[in-house]
Amino acid sequence: MKVPPATLAKFVKLGLHQPFDLVLHLPLRYEDETRITRIGELLPGETAQAEGEIVHCEVMYRPRRSLVCQLQDETGTLTLRFLNFYPSQQKQLAVGKKIRALGEVRGGFFGVEMVHPKCRAGGEEAPLKQALTPIYPTTAGLPQGTLQKHIQAALAGLELPDTLPEAVLQPLRLPDFAASVQQLHNPPPHLGEQELAYHLRPYLRRIKFDELLAQQLSMRVHYRKRRSRNAPPLACDGTLAARLLQALPFRLTGAQQKVWQEISGDMTQSHPMQRLLQGDVGSGKTIVAALAALQAIESGYQVALMAPTEILAEQHYLKLRDWLAPLGIAPVWLSGSLKKKDKTAAASQIAQGDTPLAIGTHALFQKEVEFAKLGLVIVDEQHKFGVQQRLALRGKGGEPHQLMMSATPIPRTLAMSYYADLDVSVIDELPPGRTPVVTKLVSDGRREEVFERVRQACLASKQAYWVCPLIDESEALQLQTALETHATLTQAFPELRIGLVHGKLPNDEKAQTMAAFKRGDLHLLVATTVIEVGVDVPNASLMVIDHAERMGLAQLHQLRGRVGRGAAESLCVLLYQQPLSELARERLRVIYENTDGFEIARHDLKLRGPGELLGARQSGVPMLRFADLEEDADLLDAARDVAEKLLLNHAEAAQAHLQRWMANKPDFLHA
Ligand code: ADP
Ligand code: MG
Repeated sequence: MKVPPATLAKFVKLGLHQPFDLVLHLPLRYEDETRITRIGELLPGETAQAEGEIVHCEVMYRPRRSLVCQLQDETGTLTLRFLNFYPSQQKQLAVGKKIRALGEVRGGFFGVEMVHPKCRAGGEEAPLKQALTPIYPTTAGLPQGTLQKHIQAALAGLELPDTLPEAVLQPLRLPDFAASVQQLHNPPPHLGEQELAYHLRPYLRRIKFDELLAQQLSMRVHYRKRRSRNAPPLACDGTLAARLLQALPFRLTGAQQKVWQEISGDMTQSHPMQRLLQGDVGSGKTIVAALAALQAIESGYQVALMAPTEILAEQHYLKLRDWLAPLGIAPVWLSGSLKKKDKTAAASQIAQGDTPLAIGTHALFQKEVEFAKLGLVIVDEQHKFGVQQRLALRGKGGEPHQLMMSATPIPRTLAMSYYADLDVSVIDELPPGRTPVVTKLVSDGRREEVFERVRQACLASKQAYWVCPLIDESEALQLQTALETHATLTQAFPELRIGLVHGKLPNDEKAQTMAAFKRGDLHLLVATTVIEVGVDVPNASLMVIDHAERMGLAQLHQLRGRVGRGAAESLCVLLYQQPLSELARERLRVIYENTDGFEIARHDLKLRGPGELLGARQSGVPMLRFADLEEDADLLDAARDVAEKLLLNHAEAAQAHLQRWMANKPDFLHA
């Protein structure tokens, strides 16, 4: 069917680019104009169609201007209300007219009523519809009728062969594709709302399955492509790593050993590693990164280690410098805030291959920085980086191995779908000797008590963080709040040494303050959420999070993870302001009741949906339209198995399926 340009423009707005896209533009709901319910039998809550004669019609002015009509049949009277109406409507609904009204039935004060029902002329001359009317998502200026017409044409005109071979489909007990879309666009009439939902369920599941399968296939294809590319095998005796391990004041936990073996093995391969190392805050990922770096260095290659914030990058730099000094390895520091001269010097050391290890922020992958022989890239807190930034790093002289670290646990279903192109290692155990953090919820009315508590703790030579509230609307306001909080606390506690860090502070000042806090020269550190990622000060054992109700779950968990790192009993006070929104209350409950990052992430997925949780990936990866990761977890499992099978035994089917579902999806997963 020819589509006029104006309609085409609307289609594009809805993401409908080719006829097949219309097939997958599924109805939001259905209207049943195939039958008439007698007014006496209308049930509140149901959507139904009634027919009768208008026996009364008037414009009312209280509580606001509205058109109110009475529709009557032999069983009762139904009130029709219109808050916005045209004179033509008033005419259509004049007393004596035979009218059919379709809408949601409400139990009003004077019997049943409908607000803004869809009205048309009734009577003998107006035959009832033969099929349910699908209602589609649409956009301004594109009437339902036009959409319906073109969708029906696409359904009739397109060949919709099943992409899945019978042998694969059969055990799944899913209907075939063509039947599924037919049913969803043209469901049978004469079913109640619940019966209809029940009838359509398998067809909808087929569509969800196909979507998940397409996602799995594209992830597996990427995975395979990567394995066909070349990277330098980084194999060595492991002398350097062994020497570092020997010098450490602690032994690796079982979980650390396990992931280290996985990573070390990957790096000896001749295709690029892309491994995500997941571990809750404080689980000890840094030492694993250091071991990986040493394996690359001993194999004669360079390593780039980067972190999303200056504070965190600097902390890594200092830690690795200390750890590696006895091995005769000196890392180079590179960040955006370096003076031009120093930056050039660092870049030239990297380009000459004079330094085996460069540590810094995203300044590490600016154009000017060319590595002589890059073998391994380590990205800490990878979820904080954008997709493009990772791409940029890939482009530098051959393909390095990549180790990505994240302290934001990814729930299993999310990892299986959106991270299936990566290999994943999990540190599922904390180092011994940690005392769990006690969490307290305290209403803002008791702020003075909290002040006193902080003072007492600091005087008893403990160290504390005071985390300033998050202010979404304005960075300037956030800064101001931090400055004010610092001023207030300094005035209230003249006997304490109190530092301040925030994002706008010059970097050397930030570093000095952090170092002073780490040394124990400061009792109390007032901070914005810049300390959220990775900051490690074992002696700090008290944290107050001001306006905790404004923070997200992942953020609260990360912040709280800054304490409880030493042997001392730690306390995290969540100071909140009433009244709490439903969502904020739920978040505080979850963080209060749970300490396990994975458990918290699962709740987070439920509260926020996958889009938010994916962070950096979110911008790049096409989101699921039909399937729900939690609700359809069984389909996800099945899709993963089928994807493997198809790629192994039915390559053409896999190709056809990807073609159908991903044809016009941009290819974001190169990272
Ligand atoms: P994260 O996984 O959050 O990056 P870090 O690597 O910063 O955690 O480690 C947190 C703290 O635990 C550090 O002070 C680190 O030195 C210490 N640590 C790491 N591994 C162990 C271990 N096996 N035993 C004892 N302490 C450890
Ligand atoms: Mg870390």
